[in-house]
Amino acid sequence: MTRRDAEVLVVGGGPAGAATAFFLARAGVDVLVLDRARFPRDKPCAEYLSPQASRILGEMGVLERVERAGAAQLAGMRVRAPNGTVIHGEFAASHGYRGFRDRGLALRRLALDAILLGRAREAGARVLESAAVRDLSRDSNGRVDGVLAETDAGRRTIRAALVVGADGLRTVVGRRLGLVKTGRFPRRLAVVAHYAGVEGMGRCGEMHVDARGYTGLADVGGGTTNVAVVLPAAQAGAMAGDPSAFLDRWIAARPHLAARFAAATRLTTPRTTGPFNSRARRAWAPGVALAGDAADFFDPFTGEGIYAALRGGELLTSYAFDAARATTTRRHDIALAAYDRCLRDAFRGKRLVERAVGTVVAFPALFNRAAAVLARRRDMADVLVGVTGDFVPPREVLRPGFLFSLLFSPAPLAAADGSGDGAGGA
Ligand SMILES: Cc1cc2nc3c(=O)[nH]c(=O)nc-3n(C[C@H](O)[C@H](O)[C@H](O)COP(=O)(O)OP(=O)(O)OC[C@H]3O[C@@H](n4cnc5c(N)ncnc54)[C@H](O)[C@@H]3O)c2cc1C
Repeated sequence: MTRRDAEVLVVGGGPAGAATAFFLARAGVDVLVLDRARFPRDKPCAEYLSPQASRILGEMGVLERVERAGAAQLAGMRVRAPNGTVIHGEFAASHGYRGFRDRGLALRRLALDAILLGRAREAGARVLESAAVRDLSRDSNGRVDGVLAETDAGRRTIRAALVVGADGLRTVVGRRLGLVKTGRFPRRLAVVAHYAGVEGMGRCGEMHVDARGYTGLADVGGGTTNVAVVLPAAQAGAMAGDPSAFLDRWIAARPHLAARFAAATRLTTPRTTGPFNSRARRAWAPGVALAGDAADFFDPFTGEGIYAALRGGELLTSYAFDAARATTTRRHDIALAAYDRCLRDAFRGKRLVERAVGTVVAFPALFNRAAAVLARRRDMADVLVGVTGDFVPPREVLRPGFLFSLLFSPAPLAAADGSGDGAGGA
């Protein structure tokens, strides 16, 4: 038999790869993580973690570390509709559901991801940084048995009983297997930067929706505000290769934001990412499992990608254990197919909610309509925010009564106008 370098090879040391590596290493599996970056490394993201993500951080033994690193505590979300109407929902509410914590967290990915990967190391996983996977290697039967990677020591083939593709939205592992499909929706791009001195940042994350896209603002601790602008890919030309100038123009063109940025200083060079219109047909192939964004990408508006990545890693553990130690290829494949079903089941409801929200965001008139209802019905806003926070079951917003109230409740006589109070200062 060909020599193996590890039982499980994890490609990518972001939240999905770090969680997978941590849980497998804790279960006694020999894990090797490869990442093309050197940590700490940044990642374009709005950097908010849902209250339920804290459960997994706790399980990994890093919740206190994340808080000590200066994570901001977010009580909920404020969403400003295109016509200025503001929806406010909080995680601690009277709907009868309680998150692991009553707060979400927000922390620079620079810090968060280094903490997570460090924890996987502590649990026994080996980590090789500056190791970019270029291709998959296969055995004489065509089954994946490892990867080809560029490392500091040159090009190497690294073999394992199971390869986990946790290599993000542009997954090399998923693409080499033809598992990634590109859809029409959501074809969006993002620009992300950090600022100091943004006025009126309160205890909630903010989303400002308008006809051209949306802007997320979140306190990420230490007086730093994460600013994430998401817009249709068709408007990529507006950036014209200069994301900094684009971001300045974007903020200046929105008076409710511009006033709050009057004394602000940009701390980081804006980073662009997208489009986000790809997802995997299925999360496995013989010899391979996909996790995190490589398996399924969630639109940043409902902001659960980090939770989904951590949870995906947690869910994968027992299936990856069985697959890596299976005595026959049949048993190996059965374990991975079961993981795929489990992952789909776990996120099916959330995926429907994400699609529905994504559709409403794309149609300003529809968004204004829903916002008019949610601004008056705090109970409904709390439920929706709880669903995005991963602790209220998605069925609560998918049931006919909720949808009916949202779409057919009488609109108030006078909707707020575009000069409304914005979503700041909660
Ligand atoms: C604009 C924007 C805003 C977002 N906001 C939020 C938010 O507020 N909250 C939230 O929960 N989610 C948010 N998300 C989603 C979140 O960023 C992702 O879901 C999350 O990072 C997924 O984690 P991951 O581990 O799967 O992938 P990643 O975090 O992308 O990690 C992948 C890792 O793989 C490595 N890698 C990639 N290719 C290779 C290769 N060939 N060889 C070796 N290593 C490789 C990379 O270096 C990286 O370290 C946002 C996303 C975007 C784009």
